[in-house]
Amino acid sequence: MNGTNPAGKLAIDGGTPVRSKPFAPWPVWDEREERMVIEAIRSGKWGGTGTVLSDGFQEKLPEMETAVARLQDARYGVSVVNGTVALSVALHAAGLKPGDEVIVPPYTFIATASAPLYTGIIPVFADIEEETLLLDPVKAEQAITPRTKAIMPVHIAGAPADMDRILEVARRHGLRVIEDSAQAIGAQWNGKGVGALGDLGTFSFQSSKNLNCGEGGVIVTNSEELWERAWSICNVGRVPGGGWYQHDRLGQNFRMTELQAALLLAQLTRLEEQMLRREKNAALLDQMLSQVKGIQLIKRSPSITRHAHHLYMFKLARGAAGTMGKEDFIRKVEAEGIPVSAGYSSLNRNEAILAETRERAGEARTYSCPVSERLCEQEVVWLPHTVLLSDEEAIQDISRGIEKVLQSYQ
Ligand SMILES: *Cc1c(COP(=O)(O)O)cnc(C)c1O
Repeated sequence: MNGTNPAGKLAIDGGTPVRSKPFAPWPVWDEREERMVIEAIRSGKWGGTGTVLSDGFQEKLPEMETAVARLQDARYGVSVVNGTVALSVALHAAGLKPGDEVIVPPYTFIATASAPLYTGIIPVFADIEEETLLLDPVKAEQAITPRTKAIMPVHIAGAPADMDRILEVARRHGLRVIEDSAQAIGAQWNGKGVGALGDLGTFSFQSSKNLNCGEGGVIVTNSEELWERAWSICNVGRVPGGGWYQHDRLGQNFRMTELQAALLLAQLTRLEEQMLRREKNAALLDQMLSQVKGIQLIKRSPSITRHAHHLYMFKLARGAAGTMGKEDFIRKVEAEGIPVSAGYSSLNRNEAILAETRERAGEARTYSCPVSERLCEQEVVWLPHTVLLSDEEAIQDISRGIEKVLQSYQ
C-alpha cells in the first residue's frame, strides 16, 4: 500500500515509524523536590489543619496558597484535595444550592459536570465555539433560565475562554462566574492571570496537569467573603480565627497536606521555564502544521496573552482522514510513535450525567451541542503537554508523522 507515497510505508503496515525515541519525561524532579518533602516530614507538621486557624501548625501550605494566588493575580488561595472538589467548593461558596443551574461547556473533563451534580446542582450545557473549542458566550446566554445562578467557563487545553463577553453576560443577568482553570495554571487573559477574573476559579494539581503534586487543587478569589466561605467549607465549617470546635456552617474536610504543598512549591520553581518551552514548541508546531494539508489549527483570541498549553489540540479538516475518519488517523499516527489521542466525548451525551440530571432535576433533559459533538467525533485530535517539553527534533517528528499519515489518504 502507498508504494508511491514519498514519505514511505506507514508503520501500521510494517513500515519504519517516524519516531522511535521517547518524548520528554514527566514529571520532572530532582533533589529539589526530595529536599522540600524531607523538610516537610522533618517538621512534624504533616496535616492541613493549621491554615489561618493558628500559626505554627504548618508552613508549606500557606506559602503555596499565596504563591499560586499571586501567580494568577488573585488576592486569596484556598488549598483543597483536588480539582474536582475545588469545583464543588467554589459552587457552594458562590451560594449555589441543590436545584440551581450552572451553565457549562460540553467539551471538557467530566468533573466540570459531575462536581455540581454530586451535590444536586444542575449542569446545563451550552455549546462551544467552532474555532476555539471554548464556551460560546452567545450560547451560554441562550441557556439562562430563572434557575441559573452561575456560568462556569472552562479554560480548555490551557486557553482562556472569552472572559470579557462571559463576564458581561453574567453581569447583565446577575450570575456568578466560576472559572474551571484546572488546565490553565499560568494562563493569562489580557495580561491578567485567569482564575479570579470572575468570582472564583479552581486549579488542579493532579499528576497529568502542568503543575503537579500527585493530587491537589487551589481555589482562588479576590473576594474576602468568598475566600472565607471556601476556606470554611474545606475546614468542616470552622471560621478563620474561630475556635477548634466552632462550626458555623456545614463543611467537610477537604484539606491538602503539607507534604503535597512542599512538592508543589518545588514544582512551582520549574513552571516558568516549562511554560517558556511549551510556548516555543507550540509556536513551532503551529508553524509546521499550518503547512500540512488537511490540518486546521485552533484559533487563538489576541486577548489570550498567555496560553498554558496543557494540551496541544488541532483539527482534521473534513474528509482529510479519508472515509476511515479520526479513529483510523489516530491509530496510524500512534503507530508512527506520536502520542496522539481522540480526547473527550461530548459531555451532553454522557449517559451517567443525563441519568443523574433526570434524578436531580426531576425531569429528563436533552441538550443539543452540534459543534462539540461533531468536533469530538470527527475532528479534534490531542497531543499531551509533555511532548511540548521535548526538543525541536521531537516537534519536527510530530509534524512529519502527521503529514505522512495524511498523505497516505490521498
Ligand atoms: C483535571 C480537571 C478537573 C479535575 O481535577 P482533579 O484534580 O483531577 O480532580 C476538572 N476540570 C478540568 C477541565 C480538568 O481538566
